[in-house]
Amino acid sequence: MTEYLEKDFDIKNYTTFKIGGKIDEAYFPDNVDEFVRLLQKYPNIPVLGNLSNTLVSTSGYNGKVILTHKMNKIEIEGNKVSAECGVKGPKLSQEVCNAGLSGLEFMIGFPGSVGGEVYMNASANGQCISDNITSVLCYSRKLGLITFKKDQMGFDYRTSRCEKDDLIVLKAEFELTPKNKDDIKKQMDENLDFRRKHQPTLALPNCGSIFKNPPCNPAGRLLESVGAKEIMIGDVRVWRNHSNFIINTGNGSSIDVLRLMTEMKQRVKQMYNIDLEPELKYLGNKNKEEIKLWQKLVQK
Ligand SMILES: Cc1cc2nc3c(=O)[nH]c(=O)nc-3n(C[C@H](O)[C@H](O)[C@H](O)COP(=O)(O)OP(=O)(O)OC[C@H]3O[C@@H](n4cnc5c(N)ncnc54)[C@H](O)[C@@H]3O)c2cc1C
Repeated sequence: MTEYLEKDFDIKNYTTFKIGGKIDEAYFPDNVDEFVRLLQKYPNIPVLGNLSNTLVSTSGYNGKVILTHKMNKIEIEGNKVSAECGVKGPKLSQEVCNAGLSGLEFMIGFPGSVGGEVYMNASANGQCISDNITSVLCYSRKLGLITFKKDQMGFDYRTSRCEKDDLIVLKAEFELTPKNKDDIKKQMDENLDFRRKHQPTLALPNCGSIFKNPPCNPAGRLLESVGAKEIMIGDVRVWRNHSNFIINTGNGSSIDVLRLMTEMKQRVKQMYNIDLEPELKYLGNKNKEEIKLWQKLVQK
């Protein structure tokens, strides 16, 4: 096997949070065959996309990971589009716009990869990645390569069967709607404009929404009402303009983020008896306090 591998890989600058220590070994496959060989060789290896929804421990991760950055091929034929898991959302959104295809305008505004977005069923501005998917090529750690049709993917709010069944997304197929390019572009510009007004840009390192919205009320509104905006721990703080975002103002660490999340969650629990559920994922296995805090955070 001739896969590209980096040892003692410093992941911090690959994350949108700019937080994270060293990973023992990071693999960067650039085609499906190589990816599958790695998954077979290391059956429990975590797979990471653009790290825009993952908090990596400042103490690092004592193991191997796969990063999908080189799995970045896009094919467009008529209104059918195929994108490998490492393709970045904004790039895909732009390319399909150039081809006069509508359906992925929402992807322009945030930094996920196709694999991460399918895994989480990412959505924004009234669109969802699952809206226009026809099938997904996955690797099941139990069954090997499998193509799932959209209705077999178990898409729901911020989740899919990938999470439940531990499936790796290799490639997604979409069927989009032909439309005037100027109209598509106008929608993308409006989406970007909305974001600039309501969300921190990556100039303020962050990880997107911290907690999922519970059924009754947006998490941001609940957090705002319990005064979360004022909370700061070390170099991380709740963003003043929207309480469901945490920003790293300098040298924030994963333990700061987890302590801050715990405080946010506790305040909402005390006031409303609602258990906020983290939207972001956590990777790391060295620091015992972090593991304990994370277990508490995901506890329902
Ligand atoms: C500024 C900002 C704004 C955001 N706005 C939104 C928004 O409006 N809507 C929204 O839905 N999200 C938003 N996000 C969050 C994030 O971009 C999405 O959740 C995105 O889907 C994460 O993709 P990723 O590639 O970065 O995933 P990662 O953070 O790399 O991984 C997230 C999870 O997906 C898994 N994963 C990644 N790739 C694969 C794969 N190929 N196969 C299987 N599992 C995989 C990982 O194991 C992990 O569990 C925002 C983030 C930021 C920083």
